[in-house]
Amino acid sequence: MKIVVLKFGGTSVGTISKIKKVAKIIRDYKKKNYSVIVVSSAMSGVTNELIKKSQEISKNFSPSEYDALISSGEQISCSLLAGRLIDEGYMSRSWLAWQIPIFTIGSFKNSRINKINKIKILKYLKKGGIPIITGFQGINDQQRITTIGRGGSDASAIMLSKFFNAIRCIIYTDVEGVYTTDPNKLKKAKKIKVISYEEMLEMASLGAKVMQPVSIQDARLNRIDIEVKSSFVKRSGTLITKRSNISDNKIVTGISSTLNDAKVTLVGVKDRPGVAASIFKPLSKNLINVDMVVQNISANGKDTDLTFTIKSDDLRKTRKIIKDNKSIKFKKLLLEKEVSKVSIIGVGMITTPGVSFRMFQALAKKKINIKVISTSEIKISVLVDKRNTKKALATLHKEFKLEN
Ligand code: ADP
Ligand code: ASP
Ligand code: MG
Repeated sequence: MKIVVLKFGGTSVGTISKIKKVAKIIRDYKKKNYSVIVVSSAMSGVTNELIKKSQEISKNFSPSEYDALISSGEQISCSLLAGRLIDEGYMSRSWLAWQIPIFTIGSFKNSRINKINKIKILKYLKKGGIPIITGFQGINDQQRITTIGRGGSDASAIMLSKFFNAIRCIIYTDVEGVYTTDPNKLKKAKKIKVISYEEMLEMASLGAKVMQPVSIQDARLNRIDIEVKSSFVKRSGTLITKRSNISDNKIVTGISSTLNDAKVTLVGVKDRPGVAASIFKPLSKNLINVDMVVQNISANGKDTDLTFTIKSDDLRKTRKIIKDNKSIKFKKLLLEKEVSKVSIIGVGMITTPGVSFRMFQALAKKKINIKVISTSEIKISVLVDKRNTKKALATLHKEFKLEN
C-alpha cells in the first residue's frame, strides 16, 4: 500500500466551497492509486470561538472540559469533508481520535501523541476507504479527550505518517509553502524550496505560524520529510528535511517575528547568590514561560538590573507574583507591553563570523533600537519596539539578501 497523509488547515476548510476544493485534491491522489489518510483542522475561526465561550462560562474552566470543547470543531470539518466525498461516490468516513484511538500523554491542552492503533484504519484503507481523521485531538489513559496544543493538526499528520509508514506527508495550507518571512507581513518574502528541521523548528518557535513547533520536533525525531504547499494553487511548495539533504546552506534562511511579547525589568535588585532563582522560581511554578534574560551589574557592584521577556498574556500575573515575592528586594519594576522579538535563523551562521554585527549595524542604520539580545548556534533574536517590527523585518530581509 502506498500511503499518503494529507493535512488541511483551518483556512483550507474554512468555507463550504473550500471544502469542495479540498475534496478534489483528495480525489486526485486517489486516482493515482494512493491510499489516502486525510487529517483536517477545524474550519478557521471555530477553535477561537470555542475558546472564547469557555472563558465566558468560567474564568477557571476545567482543563478536561476545555479539551472536550475545543476539539469539537474538527468533528464538523471532518464530517463535512467525508460527506462531500461520499456524495461524489467515494467510500469515506470521519474518524474522531478516540474511535481509532490516537493515544496521548501529558496534560490537557498540551498533550503529545505517543501511540496510534492502526488496525481499524488499515482495514478501512484496504477496502478502498478514505479516512478523514480529526487533527488536534487524542485520548489519554483515562479515556478523556485531549488536545495537543494550538496548531496541533500538523503534529497529528506527522504522527499518523510515522505510525502508518506513509511515503509522503503533505501539509496543505493557505500559503504556497514556508517563506523567508511571513508573506502576509512582507510582500518581498520568497518561498523556500528546502529547509532543515533545525531551521524550521527555530522559525516556528520564534513566530512562523505556518508549522506547529512540536510537530517539527516529531518529524525530526522520526525522520519524516514534510511537504508544505497551497490548497488553492497547484505549485511546488517547501520540503522540510534533514540537514544532510541540503547542499547550499545560506547564512540566513529565514526571519521570524512575534507579536505578543512583554518585557519586565527589575531595577536595583540586591546582587547576591540565588537572587535570580528567587525571582524565577515562582514564575515557573505558575507556568509562566520566561524567554530572553539579561542581567546588568551596576557600577557599585551591589545592585543589578534584571530584564526578561514573557508572553504579554502573562504580564498581569507576573506583576502580581513579583510584587508579592517577599524574598526579593528591588527599587523599581518596569513593564513594557509593546515589544516584539525579531529573529534571523540559518545553519550557515555556524560557520560565518560577523553575522550578529551585520544584523545590529543594519538595524542601527534604520534607527531601530535593540532592547534585548539572545543567541543560539543557528539564530539571533533581538527585542524591538512593536512599531518597528515591519521595518526590522524588511531591513534584515534586505541585508541578508533573502529577496534574491
Ligand atoms: P493552517 O490553518 O493551514 O494551519 P496557519 O494559519 O496555521 O495555517 O499557518 C499559515 C500562516 O502562517 C500563513 O497564512 C502565514 O501568514 C503564516 N506564516 C508566518 N510565517 C510564515 C512563513 N515564514 N512562511 C509561510 N507562512 C508563514
Ligand atoms: N483547530 C486547532 C487550532 O486552531 C488545530 C489546528 O489548527 O491545527 O489550534
Ligand atoms: Mg496551523
